[in-house]
Amino acid sequence: MDFLQKIRDNNATHVVSKAELEPLLMEAQKVFRQHFSLEANFERSVFINWTCAIADCQYCYLSTKPKHDPRQEAKAVRSQESILAEVLLCRLMGWKIGYITGGLRVESVEYLKDLISKINAINGEKIMMNFGPYAHSEIDKLKPVVSGMGSAIESFDEELHNFICPSKPLRVLLKFLENVKREGLQKLITIILGIGEKKSDVDIVIEKIKEYDIEKIQLCFLKPQENTIFDEVPSPNPDYMAWWIARIRVACPEVIIKVALVRDRISDVSLYLEAGANGFSRFMIFNDFNSEYAVELEQGCRKAGRKLQGCFTSLPELDLEKEVAGLPFDNLLKEKILLKLKQYYAKLERK
Ligand code: SF4
Repeated sequence: MDFLQKIRDNNATHVVSKAELEPLLMEAQKVFRQHFSLEANFERSVFINWTCAIADCQYCYLSTKPKHDPRQEAKAVRSQESILAEVLLCRLMGWKIGYITGGLRVESVEYLKDLISKINAINGEKIMMNFGPYAHSEIDKLKPVVSGMGSAIESFDEELHNFICPSKPLRVLLKFLENVKREGLQKLITIILGIGEKKSDVDIVIEKIKEYDIEKIQLCFLKPQENTIFDEVPSPNPDYMAWWIARIRVACPEVIIKVALVRDRISDVSLYLEAGANGFSRFMIFNDFNSEYAVELEQGCRKAGRKLQGCFTSLPELDLEKEVAGLPFDNLLKEKILLKLKQYYAKLERK
């Protein structure tokens, strides 16, 4: 099968008229207001590495980087102090931790458990992991430290999915979700729009949210990466994104919907919130704090009648030494965290 042609053909179905969208948005807003308070949250995706032992998903940035060899020590793994400093700063600034993520099969389960326990100690509650399929035995080991687990599902069209992610077959991902559900953990899925789904595939996604009792869905859209087969495939348009959010909101009133918000989509934030999204991820907070983008973000949330949680344009006075001194870690780790925290805080101060 010519999958690239199929992707082009399916992408041609991404048409949403105003007459179709407007009544749906009104319905979605009504449903949202019945189930959630009028807030908007930023959820930071915390990356713990920049390499992947699979590295062949055709749209993914990490597929363009050197593949991690599990027999060798991982080179592109982020230090614990860097991750923990970021988590602490998020808490102090009022930004939520959406999950930890990164390339698959890089760290051992024991390492992850230790790291996640430390993150939880700072965050004050358990976090989610978003890495992709883990074996049932691994889920069992990670269960005590996480609130939930998830994966990018990419597409529920099995042939297309397995073309896009040859080493991460759909059936393995579905088995993973089934096991996460069996272990009583929350489930998160990420759907990437623009990599070959048909508009009508929203019905399949809704069906799967119900089937697996999925609590949280993250809608991303294709951001064409150089040196991938998608580098000339256009991103889906904002009305189409909003249509997906609204269809899911109406069909699944209680699911948390998060949308990935990149710079050139910040002007669409009010549209996404009006469609029933709870919040957003991907905002480049260290680059765009207190910038025109942050101002636009705040304005967009206000326009949609939502109170944006956390600081985006003003930096609170923080006693970094005191915050780090209160952490339940040994002095050496605390010293390292403080050093990183000061660097991150200084980035925000310069804005
Ligand atoms: S498993 Fe995840 S990180 Fe690795 S290439 Fe695929 S999408 Fe990218």
